[in-house]
Formats: sequence, structure tokens, C-alpha cells
Amino acid sequence: MNAFEMAQAQFDAVAARMKLDKGVADLLRWPLREFKFSIPVRMDDGSLRVFTGFRVQHNDSRGPNKGGIRFAADETIDTVRALAMWMTWKCAVADIPLGGGKGGVIVDPSTLSVSEKERLCRGWMQQMWKHLGPRQDVPAPDVGTTPQMMAWMMDEYSKLVGVYTPGMITGKPLGAGGSLGRTEATGFGVTYCIREAMKHLKMDPKACTASIQGFGNVSQYATIGFTELLGGKVVAVSCWDLKDKKAYTYSKKDGIDGRFLLTIVDQYGTIDKEAAKKAGYEIEAADAWLYKDVDVLIPAAKEGQITGDNVGKISKQVKIIAEGANGPVTIDADKEIQKRGILDIPDFLCNAGGVTTSYFESVQNDMNFYWSTEEVLKRLDDKISVAFHAVLDMSLKEKVYMRDAAYLVSIERVVKAMQHRGWI
Ligand code: GLU
Repeated sequence: MNAFEMAQAQFDAVAARMKLDKGVADLLRWPLREFKFSIPVRMDDGSLRVFTGFRVQHNDSRGPNKGGIRFAADETIDTVRALAMWMTWKCAVADIPLGGGKGGVIVDPSTLSVSEKERLCRGWMQQMWKHLGPRQDVPAPDVGTTPQMMAWMMDEYSKLVGVYTPGMITGKPLGAGGSLGRTEATGFGVTYCIREAMKHLKMDPKACTASIQGFGNVSQYATIGFTELLGGKVVAVSCWDLKDKKAYTYSKKDGIDGRFLLTIVDQYGTIDKEAAKKAGYEIEAADAWLYKDVDVLIPAAKEGQITGDNVGKISKQVKIIAEGANGPVTIDADKEIQKRGILDIPDFLCNAGGVTTSYFESVQNDMNFYWSTEEVLKRLDDKISVAFHAVLDMSLKEKVYMRDAAYLVSIERVVKAMQHRGWI
């Protein structure tokens, strides 16, 4: 699966439906700017290793480009392009004044020492700083990157420009320009979307179960959100096991305790198998999470996970798919989900809580005045609920699938900004 081809195919279908002018569509189906660069890093053993880095700025008509930096062994320019494009739609659907960007490095971060990671982060910034800034492009964490890495990058940028500039990157640690609520933000945003979807479908969250793919930041707080905010039960989460180099599903019929799992998971999202077994968790095959008899499925790991091959095995009980990850459903699978009438909350709406709180973080950085957790989460809930209903209303009005409705809402907003600015 090529993620960029998938992102373009999704866009093309909606652009055709909207009868979007060909020139406008050509502008939007490609990024405005792309950077590919080499990052020399001195390794702990004295050798020099050269890493490949990327930054793609898809569209900044509504405001500075915004989006995370991924450290992944399988990173390619096309995954970064797709993810940058999805960020444009994500910021537009959440109605925050930002555009779309994404960055990456081809590296498995678990193979680096702490100081090698720091040198790689600083090296990435040395190559890109001229094209970044609070009014140009604002990176953030994503798969394989952490708040600590954001702090190193912010420090390097501040040294290069000679001015302390916390608002040039988000997802920073608390006490180094970070915002309260940012850690919970993406998973809680997923939860708020599920809550609104359940209201629409007249489902009682307290009587509902969920199964989740992944146990990184998004999944951790989706698990906690689903249990603590909605009163529902999460019966399975899956996670990658670094040592065994394969994934497992951890299940518990009487409900998973997300707070407990947080105490036995490492920074790469690997759950301690022995500790989980001792606590009564059953360990199953990697894809077992997908076939559970639950009301809600939450793919919150990586792109391309629900495919034409496995979609048919999803339980008849599933009413909602909440896409915590970016691009977890392939085009083939999407058709099937649509046919079955499952309410799919598309990625760039469902996981917009992260970037929305990133926006709050940079606003607080600019004001140099910081909000309480309650204030951040309340504003987040308001933004996500409004965004969800804008998409749902569009879906009901135009009688289209939720993903297409989300595209309609966001493309309209981006096109309007480009018109106002005289680009088109
Ligand atoms: N990497 C996250 C995403 O895909 C967050 C982006 C941000 O906070 O800028 O939405």
C-alpha cells in the first residue's frame, strides 16, 4: 500500500464530486514544498552515520504548516506526503488556523542511545530551521518521537535563531513550554468523537465495549478515556513487542485497566508480557483485536491496518470504527465498511485532538501564560464536538459517508482560504 496514492485517491473522489476546478485540484493533490536532506550523526562508537530526513509542507493557506515528525525504519517520502496532506484536512476540519505538514527520519529509534537520539534531533533541526518557525511551520511528535525530542529540537532552534522560541514546536514536556493536557489530548479527542457518535446512534456508552490496536500515546489515552470518561469497557489492546519483533493482543473480558498498563509499558509502546500475564491478561495473536465481538473498534497504531483481506472478519456487532491512527483503513476496506453501514469516524477528524491541543500549546507559548488541565480539556472537548457535528451534519445533508463528509468540510475551508488570499 502506498499511503500517498491512498490520500490522493480519497481526495480525487471528493474533488470530482465537488466538481472542483482542475487547477485547484492539481494544487491540492500535491504538497506546496518538500525537503529531503542528509543528517550526519556522530555515533557513540565514534563512527559517522548519515540519516535521511524529510519535511513536507502540503498547504499553508489557513496558517503555518503543522504536523509531527516520525522516526520510523520504513519512512518514505510518500508516507510523509500523505501524512502532510492529511494534516491540512485535519487542521481545517478542527477549524484551527494552521496548514498541513509532516516530517520524518528513516530510523528505528529503539536502536539509538539517548545521546545519539539527541544528536539526530539537533541535526534534523540544523537542516530545517530556516523553513520552520511559529509563523512558518510548527512540528510536533508523532510515531517514534517524544516530548524530550521536541525539547531538544526547540533548544537547537532557539540557539540557531538566538531567541528562545518555544512556539516553534509543540508536544514539549511540561516545564519546557509544554501544555497540560497534551499527553491525553489525542486519545481523549478520539473518546469525545465516540461519545458524540454514540449519542447520534442512541447507544449507551456504559453498556458498550471496545477493542483497540496499539498501545502508544493515542491508544493509551483512548483506553483510559473510553473507560473513565464514557464508563465503557475496553476488552483488548494490541501492541508491538520490541524483543520478539511481533505484535500481540492483550485481552481481558472484565475490562482492561489502562492506568495499570501504563505502569508496565515502555516508551515504544511494548507491554511487559510477564507482568500482564501475572495480572490476568490473556495474550493472543497480533490481529485478534480486530475480530473481537465489540461495539467499537479503534485502530490507533499505523496506516494500512484494516484491509480488503481482513475487513470481512470484523464482527457483526461493531457499530463504530474510530480511527485513532492516520490512514488505518485502506481504500478496499473502506468500501466494505461503508457497505456494512458502520459509522466510521475518519482519521483526520477522530485524531484531531492532538493537533488541536498543539495549537493551544503554541497559543500559550505566544502569550507566555499557561492554562490549567481543565481549561485545556474543556476547550478541546468544545472544538472536537463542534468539528464532529459539522462533519455529521454534512454527512446527513449530502447523504455521504463520514470520510467524504469530512473531506467536503475541510476542502471547502481550504479552498475558501486560498480564494481569500488570491491564490486561485
Ligand atoms: N502527529 C500528530 C498528528 O498526526 C500531532 C500533530 C501536531 O500536534 O502538530 O496529528
